[in-house]
Amino acid sequence: MKKLRTPIVAVLGHVDHGKTTLLDKIRNTRVIAKEAGGITQHIGATEVPIELIKEICKDLWPKNITIPGLLFIDTPGHKAFTNLRKRGGALADLAILVVDVNEGFKPQTEEALMILRTFKTPFVVAANKIDKIPGWQSFENQPFLKSFQQQDDVVKQRLENKIYDLIGELYKYGFSADRFDRIRDFTRTVAIVPVSALTGEGIPELLLVLVGLAQRYLEKNLRLHVEGKAKGTVLEVKEEKGLGMTMDVIIYDGTLRVGDKIAIGGVNGVVVTHVRGILKPRPAQEIRVESKFKSVKEVTAAAGVKIVAPGIENVVAGSEFEVVESEEDVKKFEERIRKEIEEVTIKTDEEGVVLKTDTLGSLEALVNELKEAGIPIKKAEVGDIDKRDVVEAAANRDEINRLVIGFNVKVLPGVEEEAARYGVRIFLDNIIYSLLDNVTSWREEQKRLREKQKIESLIKPCKIQLLKDFIFRRSKPAIVGVKVLAGELRRDVKLIKPDGTPAGSVRSIQKAGENIPVATEGDEVAIAIDGVTIGRHLDGNEILYVDIPEKHAKIIERDLLDSLSEEAKKAFMEFLQIKRKENPFWGR
Ligand code: GDP
Repeated sequence: MKKLRTPIVAVLGHVDHGKTTLLDKIRNTRVIAKEAGGITQHIGATEVPIELIKEICKDLWPKNITIPGLLFIDTPGHKAFTNLRKRGGALADLAILVVDVNEGFKPQTEEALMILRTFKTPFVVAANKIDKIPGWQSFENQPFLKSFQQQDDVVKQRLENKIYDLIGELYKYGFSADRFDRIRDFTRTVAIVPVSALTGEGIPELLLVLVGLAQRYLEKNLRLHVEGKAKGTVLEVKEEKGLGMTMDVIIYDGTLRVGDKIAIGGVNGVVVTHVRGILKPRPAQEIRVESKFKSVKEVTAAAGVKIVAPGIENVVAGSEFEVVESEEDVKKFEERIRKEIEEVTIKTDEEGVVLKTDTLGSLEALVNELKEAGIPIKKAEVGDIDKRDVVEAAANRDEINRLVIGFNVKVLPGVEEEAARYGVRIFLDNIIYSLLDNVTSWREEQKRLREKQKIESLIKPCKIQLLKDFIFRRSKPAIVGVKVLAGELRRDVKLIKPDGTPAGSVRSIQKAGENIPVATEGDEVAIAIDGVTIGRHLDGNEILYVDIPEKHAKIIERDLLDSLSEEAKKAFMEFLQIKRKENPFWGR
């Protein structure tokens, strides 16, 4: 059987929920295991070998595990996760979502879920800080289930309740979840592992579930990735004393050798260079020797190393690279990077908002979320907000699309004023979740307002009865008392008789000697009617209907029937019958 590579694991979660502490604890698992082989410190990552996990998990250990270990990315958080990409998605194969079990879901927890959903990354929930549950007795570094058995019943119940809360929260996002020991199929149900990053309780099971997930999900994907041309992702570019420019990278695929020619591609274009040196961190006990780093000839995925290479000053974190052997390889690579950026960086002439973000990863996540929310996008790019963005947003026909949405970016000087001038709104945030929330609620509000205006401007159904005893004037204009039988009567509407013939238009409405804009069902008012003479065109005792324009009638029949009173609805139907007697397709 071919060798599987080490799966790459990222840690996400709300601030202060314990991501760093958890990673530190994992980096110290050696202490828990006593004997087995140690942790390997990589550049920017930590490798926990499988023997060590096996040693910690002891009797819990399942069969058929063939992955060589787990590689944890040292930088926790969403930015690292979305920024570190490989072909077709996130660099990390798996994720741990850390949630403080006492606090539950927070904005960044929700953001993490959105990101994991976008990148389709399998994950485990670490329900952290169980040691803070009132009455919890800590048993350092014990498996969760062992520690749990020894708790009082009330304490057990307290934890269970918290876990149910988490299950409920996850359900809202479409994930079915359960405590890890109650799950049969880990590919369908998200596992929640209660842990304490401080005391180490539950860490064995957390690692165990990760190993199980990795094995099941990734067997197919991880195969064959140890041999072949190296592919990787840049974590950071920095100058090292005595070495010049270096880049810290994670190699997720293949084998990298000194002397290899590599192409590095980011949003700023492709750089082709060659590997002058590959450096690994020197183990702590050897550090007294001159350098922190140890030079190696080659390295195999997955691994975090420092690469010394010329011409990489302008490479940005998050760029992908791969070994290239020929001009053709370079061309292919360039083409792929261009396509990938294009896929995320949409630009069309259609209507839509303008989106600017800090990295390609966050751009991808936001494009996805905006699409899901049904918000059209005209342009999506990495970079700060400038005047061109405002101009593009302003060119939208629909004003609810005249938006520039910025995630983790700056607004360049003078742009705010420009936006105000063009009537463009700028939304900024550094949490995806609240950014989306603000944008969608603003748009909803605008739509509601607009709908209200639209409805208000429609001519609505109305049926009136002329009152023969209250004819004040016969013509120019005729002034007569009426009762509003159904709907509402406004000024400036035309009237028709039940046979469809015109009966003038309402010039004004008076009640108790005062002009009023509208009379409602049941009101008795005096109206002035232009264009008719009572005694000639009208007897003065008829029923009249407001003549609704065909366009308005269409909208009312389609959208507004439910908002009408029973009487108004009936009057509207009678009105339609009058119109359709002559033309059956009227208003359809
Ligand atoms: P991050 O912002 O998610 O990386 O959170 P940190 O790892 O910095 O943790 C935030 C605070 O919570 C620190 O004071 C930690 O000591 C504390 N903390 C983290 N994990 C635990 C835990 O399991 N139990 C307790 N009691 N405190 C914890």
